[in-house]
Amino acid sequence: MDISIDSCIAQLRRNTLKVTPRRLAVITMLLAERRYFSPYEVYERLLNTDCSSGLPSVYRILQEFSAIGLVTEIERSDRQQYYFLCKESSGAHHHHFICRICCRVEPIKKCFFDSVKKHIETELDAQVESHIFQLEGICASCRNH
Ligand SMILES: [Zn+2]
Ligand SMILES: [Zn+2]
Ligand SMILES: [Zn+2]
Repeated sequence: MDISIDSCIAQLRRNTLKVTPRRLAVITMLLAERRYFSPYEVYERLLNTDCSSGLPSVYRILQEFSAIGLVTEIERSDRQQYYFLCKESSGAHHHHFICRICCRVEPIKKCFFDSVKKHIETELDAQVESHIFQLEGICASCRNH
């Protein structure tokens, strides 16, 4: 199920975060493109709008969104933090391929970890409850240009 501005607002309310113009501006900006952003990029994009925020506020807003699961934290090999609002994040468990050139994000619907989970559980006699997996590379359109 694709998420919309309305479902984002509902998610803020469920988590008792006020629907402020600044939070809305960040959500609208993130929803507009299927790519991840650094806090600084979000800050820059909103700079000349009515809803601009200082950089520390943008950091805080993104961390709040991450804490309630509205945005996904993207780790890159440059070790900086990026954020992505996945339009499928209300749907089933999935993973992401991220392009290091254009910052595009592609969902990977198939999860390959069932057998890994079983193997680890047997080997460690532990119970695996979650996993994080993300692929980074060069997307099709960047490869062909
Ligand atoms: Zn996703
Ligand atoms: Zn790309
Ligand atoms: Zn998985």
